[in-house]
This record gives sequence, structure tokens and C-alpha cells, in this order.
Amino acid sequence: MEHTLQGTIIYGDDFEPVDGIITIEDGIIKEIEKKKINSDTIIAPCFVNAHTHIGDSVIKDPPYLPLAELVQPPNGLKHRILAQTSKDDLIAAMKATIHDMIRTGTCAFLDFRESGSAGVKALKEASNGLNIESRAFGRPMDNDMGYLDSCEGTGLSSTSDLEMDIIREIVLNTKRKGKKFAIHAGERNSDDILPAIGLEPDLLIHMIHAEKREIKLIKEEQIPVVVCVRSNFITGSGLPPIKKMLDEGILVAAGTDNVMLNSVNMFSEMEFLARTAIYDDRQVFKLCTLNGAKIAGLDKELGSIKTGKKARLMILNKKSDNMHGIRSPLSSLVRRARPDDIIRII
Ligand SMILES: [Zn+2]
Repeated sequence: MEHTLQGTIIYGDDFEPVDGIITIEDGIIKEIEKKKINSDTIIAPCFVNAHTHIGDSVIKDPPYLPLAELVQPPNGLKHRILAQTSKDDLIAAMKATIHDMIRTGTCAFLDFRESGSAGVKALKEASNGLNIESRAFGRPMDNDMGYLDSCEGTGLSSTSDLEMDIIREIVLNTKRKGKKFAIHAGERNSDDILPAIGLEPDLLIHMIHAEKREIKLIKEEQIPVVVCVRSNFITGSGLPPIKKMLDEGILVAAGTDNVMLNSVNMFSEMEFLARTAIYDDRQVFKLCTLNGAKIAGLDKELGSIKTGKKARLMILNKKSDNMHGIRSPLSSLVRRARPDDIIRII
């Protein structure tokens, strides 16, 4: 089935706004014709949310507690609540969050999933049949690493939360299976950054407290980083040196982190990134789309509007009360647009 869309297209890997017509066949972008048209819409690639914990969907309004008391395994509040939640309730809560992601323009997400094999299975069940790519990083439970057979790899909380010998064993088992190893680092302080880098991870989360030396190391080792600025702000952890990491050529993507702390709305994440960290709208949009797709290994299909990629697009109303009179479609999309400006998601 072939159909066309017309509007201001946020085009290619540089996200250059151009007016034109997109031809879509069987869900794939077949042709992009640049053409002067009178359009009321912006056509943008859907988001990739590069770091979530959607198991937290069962606890959306926690009390104000220090970060460790909320999320640190095994006894942080979220882990106590997860342990008390029935499988059906967990899946229903995660399903609602996934629906919310789709509705707010996200086409893929990378999740840190607790509770071993059962946790990864629950995520698969929650996302089953929905129009979104989910990638899970599981976590061992009771020494069982069976989850590795059905997900991307392992995602750990911090080298400060477990014995290093145990972590090394987990990393070894993960790599033996040909899977990826991801870990939070530099969130509370800088203590866990060098130990994390020493584990040769495939992905680092946060890096708020990374200094020049650590940034150089990450660059040398070519480790991608996911930043979660709204989460960092709420937990009072500070803000990551995104500009410095980008200047070094490090692959940086953005995530909304714990559903307990934040909604999964990537428009909020973009607005916050644009206001606090980068002051470069193109880079902000890239962090929220193409760079996440690269980290997920999905950039041949998703993350930007190019011929041959999947047509996972959001069509936004340029004439909504919020967007009325905008002059720069990309800047307004990044700093101002909201989910209620979306007319349609493909
Ligand atoms: Zn996290």
C-alpha cells in the first residue's frame, strides 16, 4: 500500500526542515520529494527513548526521599514495591506506560529491567503486539542469568551497589553470551565512574560527575552515554557535561529514566535538555532520536527521515495555539512542541 504525506519534513540525519512530500510504501519511506508547498504540518521522526525503567510504572508518586532510599537495590522503595506487586498488575502498569510512549511519539525504547528472567518476560508481554521496539537490559536474580537468552544484555545499577567480584562475574557471563553490558555511573558522585569504565561496558548511563579525564577515557574506549537530565534534576544529582562529551565526539543519547521520577514524554525531555544543557536544538533532537537509534542498533530503520528507513513519523500541527506563528520548525519542535500538537502518529 502506497500513500503520501506532505508538510515541513525534519529531513535526514541533520534534521534540516524542508517542505516536501514523503511517499510511503508498506511502512517504508520510498521517496522524499522536496517541493515548495503550503503546509500546516511538521513531519518529524519518532523518538527513541534510550533509558527507561518502566517497571517503576507501579509507583508514580513516591515520597521525596534521597535517591538511594528510592532506587538502590535490594531494599530501595521501588524494589520493595516491585516485590509486592503481582505479575498482572506489573504488566498492566507497564502496558499503560508503553501506550503513553507511543501516544507521545516514541517508536523505540531501551529499558533496564529488574527481577531477572521473569522481569524481562513481563516487559515482553507488556509490549507484545504494540507498535514500538523495546530493548531490555535484564538484571540477575538469585544468581540466575537466564534472562540473557531473551534480551539485549545486562543493565546494572552501579559498581557501588555490588561487590566488584560479583559484577565482574556478571560481565563475563554477559559477554560470553555475546550480549551487551550497560551500567549507571557518575550519578551520585564520581566514585563509580572509573570502576565502570574498567568493566569495558557497551553503554554508560548518566555520567553527571565525569571530569575531563573520564570523558577522554570514554572517548578512547568509544563508549556511548545516555543522559537523563530531568531525572538528574529531580534527584538533585546535578547535570551531565553533555556539551563536553559531544565536543569530544562521544555518542550521547537521551532517556527519561525511572517512570517513578518522570513521565516517558520525550517532548518534556527535549524542552528540558534545550533549556539546561546544550543550547543547540539540532543536537537536542538528535539525542532524542538518531543517537538513541544508534545505541539500540536500530539506526538503519529508525531515528531519522530518509529513504529506505521505516516510516515511524509524527505529524504535528504547525497552526495549533501553541505552535501558531513559529518561524523555525526545528527549534519550536524541540523547545515548545507538546504531545497535544501531534495530529497523527505513523
Ligand atoms: Zn536508570
